[in-house]
Amino acid sequence: MKRIILKQGEEDRILLGHPWVYDNEVDRILDGPQPALLRPGELADIESSRKTYLGRAIANPQSKIIARIYSPSKEGMDTGFFKRRIRESLERRFSQGSCRQGSNLYRESARIVFGEADFLPGLIVDRYTGWPLESAQAASQTACTERPLTPELVEAKLGPPASWLAVQFLAYGMDERREDILDALEYTLEWFRPAPAGGPVEGDRKEGGGRPLGIVERSAVKARELECLPLREGLARGSIPHGILIFENGLPFVLNLEQGQKTGHFLDQRENRLLAASYAEGARVLDAFSYTGGFGIHAARGGAVRVVCADSSAPALEAARLNARLNGVEDRLTVVESDIFELLRLYERRREEFDLIILDPPAFAKSRSNINDALRGYHEINLRALRLLSKGGTLVSCSCSQALDDGRFRRMIAEAARDADRRLVQKDFRHQSADHPILLGYDESFYLKCGVYQAL
Ligand code: SAH
Repeated sequence: MKRIILKQGEEDRILLGHPWVYDNEVDRILDGPQPALLRPGELADIESSRKTYLGRAIANPQSKIIARIYSPSKEGMDTGFFKRRIRESLERRFSQGSCRQGSNLYRESARIVFGEADFLPGLIVDRYTGWPLESAQAASQTACTERPLTPELVEAKLGPPASWLAVQFLAYGMDERREDILDALEYTLEWFRPAPAGGPVEGDRKEGGGRPLGIVERSAVKARELECLPLREGLARGSIPHGILIFENGLPFVLNLEQGQKTGHFLDQRENRLLAASYAEGARVLDAFSYTGGFGIHAARGGAVRVVCADSSAPALEAARLNARLNGVEDRLTVVESDIFELLRLYERRREEFDLIILDPPAFAKSRSNINDALRGYHEINLRALRLLSKGGTLVSCSCSQALDDGRFRRMIAEAARDADRRLVQKDFRHQSADHPILLGYDESFYLKCGVYQAL
């Protein structure tokens, strides 16, 4: 096993839990006593300048991140390793009542592997649990005419749910072990059963999991270019239906695993959608950057009188409309295809007013280098949204830019409030859903911010 010896002092960040080694932190690479070169994807041991053992990593000399530590000990990386790690990931989410007490998250869709934060650097796995739909039409006519659809209605008609996976390989060492990982995923999910702490979880039928019927790869992401990996998308195992009907917080949503954005559905906002909906009773709602209506539909089901879902993506809005029908709220929900910056200006000219505005834009800051441009963008949408907000209205403002920390985000909101001449009271401040764990010392896992503010 080759050894990567760090320069003096470079171990501090790693000792705090950060798993990456940057190429400029390396003093020398040794194979036995000899200097050596690393091959992309190979395993290597990391040591401090004083020869303290720091862990075992997957290496990639083509990347600025030359090594990603996956274990504090000298364990190998074979199928057995992947099975172990995946099982641990599932247990962290489903067996300790850690995600949400009392509800059976195992039957809901969730991120089951969140890369470094699950000690599987560069591997993302989302599992969607639901029912297959062969066409968009099938979706709108789905199963039963009762609205809103409930899991019980669908299950009575179509039988128990199945599951499918969307995966991303974002590090060379993971991409190289793709087949081992897919084998381990299929095997582990087939046999895993959640073991609830303190007795069975209500509604636990020890199913809803099982071997996935299909695995789709969604690795056409920029991060792969930094690893010198080609962009790749498409079916990896089994088959994927045209659409999948899932339930989130008990509400039906249809998604498309192959064409949807990212891995199909933004699972990281699951809990924040419920939070936003708790402010929706009787409200006129604007869900800006709505994608398929995640927030807007929760708000409509939460008692909103009128909801506008706005996004620049026509297919996303088409899905939002379908989701509204399945939820029985199409009379209260309209979709608007527009650039949000323009729409907010238009609404201001028209003196439109809303009681609840949700802003959930894409990551404006892709890295620390464009943080100032990003802040200008965030400031603008928050300022304009505040101008549309009624007295006492609620702003739910999100940012998924990892480069923007909580403090800077809150300051941006305060600056937008100053410029809009509004006073804000923070009602809540959350991060991503619990199935996207936060690893202390690894700030990259601390990315989603969701602030709830009441405007006086
Ligand atoms: N709120 C959504 C997720 C939003 S993802 C949910 O809960 O699922 C960000 C969305 O912003 C994408 O759907 C993308 O199409 C849209 N988008 C990006 N830039 C935009 C712009 N300038 N104007 C309008 N929509 C935009």
